[in-house]
Amino acid sequence: MKWIKESVKDLKTYPTPRKPMEVKLDSNEGKNICLLDVCESTFLQDLRINLYPDGQSCLLREELGKYLGLPAANIVAGNGSSEMIDLIMKAFVEKGDKVLSVFPSFSMYGVFAKIYSAELVSVESRLDFSLDVNAVIRKAKESAPKAVFLCNPNNPTGYLLEKEEVEAIAQATDALLVLDEAYMEFACGSLAQDVTAYENLIVLRTMSKAFGLAGLRLGYLASNEGIVEAVNRVRPPYNLNALTQYLGVKALREKEKMFAYVEEVKEEREYLFCGLKRLGINAYPSDANFIFFECHVPNLSKKLEERGVSIRSFSGDLENYYRVTAGNRGENLKFLMSMEEILEDSPR
Ligand code: PMP
Repeated sequence: MKWIKESVKDLKTYPTPRKPMEVKLDSNEGKNICLLDVCESTFLQDLRINLYPDGQSCLLREELGKYLGLPAANIVAGNGSSEMIDLIMKAFVEKGDKVLSVFPSFSMYGVFAKIYSAELVSVESRLDFSLDVNAVIRKAKESAPKAVFLCNPNNPTGYLLEKEEVEAIAQATDALLVLDEAYMEFACGSLAQDVTAYENLIVLRTMSKAFGLAGLRLGYLASNEGIVEAVNRVRPPYNLNALTQYLGVKALREKEKMFAYVEEVKEEREYLFCGLKRLGINAYPSDANFIFFECHVPNLSKKLEERGVSIRSFSGDLENYYRVTAGNRGENLKFLMSMEEILEDSPR
C-alpha cells in the first residue's frame, strides 16, 4: 500500500472479536439499568445495548454490499461520510502532503486537509460551475497530490461528471481518488461497483441524503481490500453504535421506499429549478437534491428567514450564491412564493 503514512505503516487493526457467549465477561461491559424499560417496551429488545456493538458492523456491511453490488470486504462503515473523510486523511495524508480538490465543492475536504497539516490545492470550476476534467488531470500531474477529492454530483453546484470523465481522472493520476457520491442516488453514474478494478479509487456514500437518515450518522466507503485494510487500521474500535447499525440494516431492507422518495425529490428539484427560472433567477441544473442559484437581492437569507424559510448562503468568492434543498411541494411553494415577494419588494 504505497500511499500509507509512515505512522500507520506498522499499525494493526484493533481486534473486536464477536463470540456469542452465555456468560460474557470479556469486555468490562455493564448492565443496562437506566434504559431497561425503553428496551423492554420496544424493538430495542434485540439490541443488547449494554454490550459493545459489532466492531466490524458485519451485518450492516453485508446489506450495504448487497445495495452497492460489492462484497462486504470492500466496505468500511462509520459515523457519516464525514468520519470516512477523516479516516482516509488519518491513514494516508502526511504533514506537508498536497490534497487536490475543486472550487466550489464540499468545504470539509479543506478543513480535514488543514487538520492533518496538508496543503489544499484547488482547481476552479468554469464560470458556469461545470468542471473541466482536463484541468483536474493537469493539476493532478503538476502538483502530485497524495489524494484528489471529487464530489459527484458536486455540493453545492449540483454538477455531475460523467462516469467516463471520472474514470479518466482515476486512470490519469497516481494519487488516491476519493469520489464523494453523497448525492449519487439522485443521479446516475456511480463508480461504487468498480472500486475493485482500481488501485487508487475510494467511493464515499452516506445514508444522510437519499435515505433521509442524517441523524443516525451512517456513512461508508467502498474500495479495494488493501485500502479498506489501511483505513481499518486507523478506525476507532466500535466506531459505529448498535442502534445505527440496527436501523441502517432495517432501512436498507426498505430501499424501495428510498427509490420512490428519490423520484419525488427529482420532481421537486425540477419544480424548484423551473420556479426560480420563472422568477428570472440564474439557477443551475442539478443532479443532487438541491438547486444552486445566484441572486443579488441584499440580505436575501434574512428576508427569507423573516418569512420562515432557511436556505444556505455563501460568502467570499461565492457571495450572492445560494443553495436550496428540494423539500416537499408545500415547502418548495412557500420558498418560491417568498422569493417572489422579496423580488417584488427589491428594486432590480
Ligand atoms: N459529503 C458531501 C458532499 C456532503 O454534502 C456531506 C453533508 N453535507 C457529507 C459528505 C457528510 O455527510 P454525512 O457525514 O452526513 O454522511
